[in-house]
Amino acid sequence: AAPLVVAVSTSISAKKGLLIRNQANFEGARNLNAVVFDKTGTLTKGEFGVTDIIADKGYQKDEVLAYAASVEQNSEHPIAAGIIGAAKDKAISLNKVNDFESITGKGIQGKVDGKTINVVSPKYVLDNYLTFDRKLFSKMSEEGKTVVFVLVEEELIGMIALADMVRDTAKEAVRSLKKQGIHSIMLTGDNQKVADWVAKQLGIEEVYAEVLPDDKANQVKKIKEKGWKVAMTGDGVNDAPALATADLGIAIGAGTDVAMETADVVLVKSNPNDVVELVDLSRKTYRKMV
Ligand code: ADP
Ligand code: MG
Repeated sequence: AAPLVVAVSTSISAKKGLLIRNQANFEGARNLNAVVFDKTGTLTKGEFGVTDIIADKGYQKDEVLAYAASVEQNSEHPIAAGIIGAAKDKAISLNKVNDFESITGKGIQGKVDGKTINVVSPKYVLDNYLTFDRKLFSKMSEEGKTVVFVLVEEELIGMIALADMVRDTAKEAVRSLKKQGIHSIMLTGDNQKVADWVAKQLGIEEVYAEVLPDDKANQVKKIKEKGWKVAMTGDGVNDAPALATADLGIAIGAGTDVAMETADVVLVKSNPNDVVELVDLSRKTYRKMV
């Protein structure tokens, strides 16, 4: 039978909005040295709004948006919802998409009217030696905006900038963890400048940006190799390998099913500050047992 303290803590945790899926790993939360946070959808709300559309090569802004939004209909990334929302606001009708593919950590691809459309990250564009207005790109990134690029048949036809909002509770989380001697780290697939901007708002000093999903897991492994106990907190499909690798995997309740199925604990209220509650609760629960 489960020890009484554990049973009690389970009902307390449910009330606090913590869904504990793996009791043994939850127990280890009392000894954490570091919490790694994904950025988009975890430290930020993951509710993107389109702020700028830049059209090139003779295309109109609405055309850039229409191509992008059409292909994004197949994606569950928060960027997709932002771009589709902007198209809807402008009453732009979306086209049918064939051969959709998601390029993990880099973007998406699909065919519209027989033409291959890509909506991709800055890294993809740089890796493929495509030219663009770097000055404008840097300016938008430094303002904390996530910029994606729209390609038609490998030709870059525009940029779409999106802004997300930092969760107020994320700042509290970082501060409270620090008080408990727990180090906060950010791990994101997004651009370095955007990552730095968000980290600065939150007081996070250690940041890894432009990290692909498998590298997220590797990064967690490296931190573990220092002899640290590490928790990973994330919401996306791209966070699943890192959630599985960490000593404690924590999923945001509003995130994807894959993240929740991989995690040891789910933050039902999607409040990053509940990581602090979780550490507290494991300390209180297991202190009594030994
Ligand atoms: P994060 O770690 O911040 O959740 P991801 O690994 O999911 O980021 O994505 C990394 C980058 O890949 C994004 O910042 C974006 O540039 C690009 N990307 C991913 N999915 C999409 C999409 N559906 N549309 C456009 N770009 C995308
Ligand atoms: Mg995310």
